[in-house]
Amino acid sequence: MKEMPVPILAPYLFQQRLLAWFADHGRHELPWQQARTPYRVWVSEIMLQQTQVTTVIPYFERFMARFPDVQALAEASQDEVLHLWTGLGYYARGRNLHKAARVVMDEHGGAFPVHSLEAMAALPGIGRSTAGAVIAQSTGERAVILDGNVKRVLTRLHAVAGWPGRPAVERRLWALAEHYTPHAQVVDFTQAMMDLGATLCRRGSPDCGRCPFRDVCVAHARGEEKRFPESKPKKALPTRETLMLLLQDDKGRVLLEQRPPSGLWGGLWSLPQFDDHGDLEGWLDVHAPGAELAPARSPFTHVFSHFRLEITPQPARVTRLDAVSEQRRWVEPGRPDGIGLAAPVKGLLESLAPFTLSAPQGPRPDSQEEESPMSQTVFCRKYQQELEALPFPPLPGKKGQEIQASVSRQAWEEWQALQTRLINEKHLNMLDPASREYLMEQMERFLDNRETDQAEGYVPRGE
Ligand code: SF4
Repeated sequence: MKEMPVPILAPYLFQQRLLAWFADHGRHELPWQQARTPYRVWVSEIMLQQTQVTTVIPYFERFMARFPDVQALAEASQDEVLHLWTGLGYYARGRNLHKAARVVMDEHGGAFPVHSLEAMAALPGIGRSTAGAVIAQSTGERAVILDGNVKRVLTRLHAVAGWPGRPAVERRLWALAEHYTPHAQVVDFTQAMMDLGATLCRRGSPDCGRCPFRDVCVAHARGEEKRFPESKPKKALPTRETLMLLLQDDKGRVLLEQRPPSGLWGGLWSLPQFDDHGDLEGWLDVHAPGAELAPARSPFTHVFSHFRLEITPQPARVTRLDAVSEQRRWVEPGRPDGIGLAAPVKGLLESLAPFTLSAPQGPRPDSQEEESPMSQTVFCRKYQQELEALPFPPLPGKKGQEIQASVSRQAWEEWQALQTRLINEKHLNMLDPASREYLMEQMERFLDNRETDQAEGYVPRGE
């Protein structure tokens, strides 16, 4: 039997209530609502897919400052686009945005085809709902939208059963959206639908008491708001494992590789990845002979939509590398400027910047300084005697200089060994500020000969 929408309100009543609510409570000051060109609306719509407005705003503003129009975006390199996308996730969106800009330039003379839903929806990364939103928001022409927010409102208003990704459910929701969309005031109407879903009819905590449809909403009447929309039937996510090589040179720089243009983290820069230690060591034998492996760090999990990736960072230090090429480069952990990074790699680099585990931070590559062949000495605060000094500050900033001026190489190397054990055996997450603070405190205790926490297997010097 053909499914028919069962409207709860006549369209004009629905529109009247929604627009009255929007006038008082909607969002009118979002950056992409100013100068609503198809380009600005399109970029905002792509960024807003699966991402909240507050997260998107600074990305949108940086993006517009760098790429003020579609031509600037089309002429940029993919690397530059992905760099500005780093942290927003779902990088296929960034790649498609770039591709679509080139299609608009090459096939549409630099103007978005906003008078044809089909032509808009044919651009890379733009589906029917996004095409509708760009058309409605930038031209005021009637176009229907059905993004995640609108789906949530409609499934609740009508208690639509079934996962909205199922074609039959989706068809029904499109029919409802079509039914309610007006021919005038389309800009406000589409924004109002999205705002109602984002600010009142929220996924986990709908604020039905303030909703203009609380008296007619079927899910609310049944007290079943959170049952809708129904979730996708769950399949257990498979787990894959990988080793990420954290290879540092004697200046503390880390080797990154560019991923192939498509697939996982396509086009982004990442650490070299291996299935097992045999592969990793084989690669080091060929490309970085003489590399020294440090103890592996505790694994952590990065969850993708279709699988979980268990990542074990494997630190190593090298003095010679035969494999630097277009697709491989050394970067300083605190300054991976101008390139798009895979999310877990960004976190790993940040964790290295203040806590260099396997190599002290050296001078910048453009420094004219050379290390003196004579070892310097320092009065070591731990051993209370003159001992060989560290050749470089081991941490960035003032703290690193303080340590270089008061801690011997021997004491520092012993602290690094203890630190590595503490990280591994206590499963510290170096992205967590509390873990870093804990290690700083342990470091001070160790260097002052006060009692420290002991990782299992660690034998204090002299015992
Ligand atoms: S009454 Fe509640 S559940 Fe229904 S549309 Fe409004 S906010 Fe959503």
